[in-house]
Amino acid sequence: MSVPRYWRERVTKYRLIGAQCTNCGKSFYPPRKVCPYCGSRDLKEVALPRKGKVISFTVIRVPPAGFELYSPYLIAIVELENGTRVLAQLTDVDLSEVKVGMPVEATFRKYLEHGPSGIIEYGIKFRPVIKGEDK
Ligand SMILES: [Zn+2]
Repeated sequence: MSVPRYWRERVTKYRLIGAQCTNCGKSFYPPRKVCPYCGSRDLKEVALPRKGKVISFTVIRVPPAGFELYSPYLIAIVELENGTRVLAQLTDVDLSEVKVGMPVEATFRKYLEHGPSGIIEYGIKFRPVIKGEDK
């Protein structure tokens, strides 16, 4: 991966910029070159809402290499306020507290650190919208 592309993607992740298909009108995250819904390559960048709700979730009990610190963790499909669905990890929540329909918001977290190279990657995760700080 070239340096400029690396930085570009980093910025994209921080700002929660997705892509919108100008053919079918659907938006998605992360951005891709081809629309996953209709196959069109006619896409534009679009800012996505950071809040949404949990549509479904699953517990990953055997994490892939590099994610051992997070075992077990929760992966959810989150529907953003504009209807865009994002597959992402949930954070700051116990398994027993997760519910379908739970309001969540995007947060940016370090999720992987490549040993000797020192490259740290960031990605979005979703956490419950805080009501009371009892936790
Ligand atoms: Zn499309």
